[in-house]
Amino acid sequence: MRELTFVRTGRLEWRDRPDPVLVDPTDVLVRPFVAARCDGDTLPLHRPVSRPMWLGLKVGAIDPVVASIVGSVPFQGPFGIGHECVAQVTALGGDVTSFTVGDIVVVPWAISCGSCRECALGLTAKCSTMTARSPGRTLAAFGFGPSSGPWGGMIADSLRIPFADHMLAKVPAGLDPLRVASGSDNLADAWRAVVPPLRLRPGGRVLVTGGGAQSIGLYAAGLAVAHGAAVVDYIDDRDARLEVAAGFGARVHKVGKSRRKSRLSSFPTSYDVAVEASSHPQGLRDALRALRPGGICTGTGYYLGTGTRLPAMDMYATSATLSIGVSHVRPVLPELLDFVATTGFEAERVTSVLADWDDAPHAYLERTTKVVLHRAPLAL
Ligand SMILES: [Zn+2]
Ligand SMILES: [Zn+2]
Repeated sequence: MRELTFVRTGRLEWRDRPDPVLVDPTDVLVRPFVAARCDGDTLPLHRPVSRPMWLGLKVGAIDPVVASIVGSVPFQGPFGIGHECVAQVTALGGDVTSFTVGDIVVVPWAISCGSCRECALGLTAKCSTMTARSPGRTLAAFGFGPSSGPWGGMIADSLRIPFADHMLAKVPAGLDPLRVASGSDNLADAWRAVVPPLRLRPGGRVLVTGGGAQSIGLYAAGLAVAHGAAVVDYIDDRDARLEVAAGFGARVHKVGKSRRKSRLSSFPTSYDVAVEASSHPQGLRDALRALRPGGICTGTGYYLGTGTRLPAMDMYATSATLSIGVSHVRPVLPELLDFVATTGFEAERVTSVLADWDDAPHAYLERTTKVVLHRAPLAL
């Protein structure tokens, strides 16, 4: 079968790899037909980061935990890329009870068992069943190469899904799969950054610092408006993204490109919820300092350096909460999918390039906010 393969920075190819097969009776096979590009994938696609990251790890400029996530030579091709998709179930193991052939599902980016302690706590991207199988490996996931397991990338003709009754979430009837193309990761990441914090601070004021985790920031702005935030301030340096945020109903503020200095010096410090999506340590410091008492900041980006300086005394003074880490997608998917289906939330506003599946080797490389690929589903 064909799989979109990261060869090196700026080069993707279709390559063949053996079709996955059902191994355990709890497995299913799926055929992805909508796929989206995670914001994090732009890191190796657009910049030759593999060698600088390897060097950074060697000299201690990059936090060593990064190596446990992506390997000691991060993003070294070739590997199957892509970890956001909507797919059709094509084959079922004998113990699978929740799905039938032809069902349309969202596949979370991380593999999880659904029954270990971490999964029971909702920390599905930290599933201890999966990490116990591969000592030294922090992640079991699609699309990050062999360092996160044998699962392959999602822009492929077939994927093997273990623990399928737990892993997969059905797309509600009538919901356009293109709308939840990013449900596997970025849309769910935005959800956790906005919806639970706003439940604790109903009608709160929300700040989104955008531009690094490009689509997460925009989904977050849209979800915050849709969940009754009093104000949503979205800051970014790029007009195209500011337009999307404004289309969702956020107040938008254009700031300079430099992330070295505070981009928030002219802003009041009065936010209940802050979503840090600039992926820069200064953005994290800005967002934390912008909180009002008891405010909650979620850092959605990568902060790769060692010794990220956080304004601990500011946080002390405002009783701030910082939430940070990978998104645990599976627990939020049912509520997220139901919300999008019943409210008509237009998540697809964030999609800046909608391309034919066959064009993936070029389209997936585009320097744009959000790439979504699609092809016709099978008549099953
Ligand atoms: Zn991702
Ligand atoms: Zn588990």
